[in-house]
Amino acid sequence: MTEWGARSAQRIVSGIEAFFVRHRHRLVWVHVLMFLAFVGLIFAPPLGAIPGPQDGLLDNYRLFANLLLWGLWFPLVFVSVIFTGRSWCGLLCPMGAASEWANKKGLKRAIPAWLQWPGTPVVSFIVITIWAQTLGARDHAETSALLFGGVMAVAIVVGFVWGRNKRAWCRHACPIGLLLGVYSRLGMVDFRPKRLREGGDAWTEATACPTMIDLKRKTETRHCIECFRCVHPNTQGGLRLAVRRPGIEIEEIAGRNPNLSEVLFLFLGNGVALGGFLWLVLDNYQSFRLWLATSAIKSGWLWVGEPGPSWLMAVFPVEREVFRWVDFITITGYMVGWMVLSVIVLSLTTGASAWLAGRLGGARTWSRRFVELGYQIAPVAMVSLVLGLGGELFSVLSLLGLSADDVRLVKSVLFALGAVWSLWLGWRILAHQGVASHVRFIPLAGGAVSITFVGAAWYPAVFSL
Ligand code: SF4
Ligand code: SF4
Repeated sequence: MTEWGARSAQRIVSGIEAFFVRHRHRLVWVHVLMFLAFVGLIFAPPLGAIPGPQDGLLDNYRLFANLLLWGLWFPLVFVSVIFTGRSWCGLLCPMGAASEWANKKGLKRAIPAWLQWPGTPVVSFIVITIWAQTLGARDHAETSALLFGGVMAVAIVVGFVWGRNKRAWCRHACPIGLLLGVYSRLGMVDFRPKRLREGGDAWTEATACPTMIDLKRKTETRHCIECFRCVHPNTQGGLRLAVRRPGIEIEEIAGRNPNLSEVLFLFLGNGVALGGFLWLVLDNYQSFRLWLATSAIKSGWLWVGEPGPSWLMAVFPVEREVFRWVDFITITGYMVGWMVLSVIVLSLTTGASAWLAGRLGGARTWSRRFVELGYQIAPVAMVSLVLGLGGELFSVLSLLGLSADDVRLVKSVLFALGAVWSLWLGWRILAHQGVASHVRFIPLAGGAVSITFVGAAWYPAVFSL
């Protein structure tokens, strides 16, 4: 970038920073509006009429709200992390704001160790993702309200009980925050300490940051919800808003607090989300279901053919969708199966890369190299997730006149870009590990297998829905 370009970019960033600092006390009104929108999108649709077979997206409020929620909000929030980081969390999300509001009124107990455990949001993500599938939340307004309403209620309870002027839910338990946090490492936005203190990132309650970041030691993006509370433009201290090249944090992951729990989440989360799509489109799910049902009946376990409770699975006789225990067990088992497969394959390929990198002069221990290289699948996993989740978004493109072939082309290009970006990150991580460029393609091959696995596994989910 030329000097003039750099100065112009800096002026724009400073202007944005000044705007948010000036108006941050008004965010409460944004949160109130977003809370009302949440109620309108989540709790109002179950009161509306069930759509008929002829109803289009604009004819029926249930269909319209479903489109806004799953077709626009979900994929666009994910995409937004690349351009604006976790701005959804700090500026807009009504759930996090409600949790923080409850915290101001609540018991303010110390945050317990089990909640601080890095696996808590991972477990939360797995449970919520599987529950969303067994409830059929993408297709039914009632269970969508149950899912989002339930998560909102837990967020408020966690906020009410634990933390002192903090967002314990957002830092330690929110499944969406975990996902956005990992992918925000790819993003363009960073909040940097004006004076970085050595020692690496740390968790502390003695901070103005609602997500308990030790501000002077902050080097990673994932827990920053962009609330602007640490930004004081006219002082020497605090943090400043900065714009960076997308992906740079993962290229330099060695110095940005890489950690195993996050990498395992990338592997696990990819698998469980994948299973959530593949059971809808692959024949082997139906074979698995038939086998289990037949075996259970032969064993006299007739209860597997009974419908389960409607808080656990989809029970909609009018719409002719009634899940039975056999569906609950097979959907859950199928998703867990994909999760385990994903962890095994990605661990093996990443482990092989890390070993080869070590043989070719890569710095640090095998486990450190494994963790660093684990991050390279982030772009392809994210693009796959967005394309899979955004099936409805692409239906809208079809309605706007794009042919099926055009939509397929758009998806294919995005898919390929994700894969190429992942390969590039692998290349750069290996460079930072000190592997010479003329042999770097050898450990990179392990990454290429990981990327091929993720891409190939998502392919039917992305292109069949
Ligand atoms: S972490 Fe979750 S609850 Fe908190 S602001 Fe982000 S999405 Fe909302
Ligand atoms: S680092 Fe600053 S902007 Fe980010 S969440 Fe903490 S206080 Fe808010």
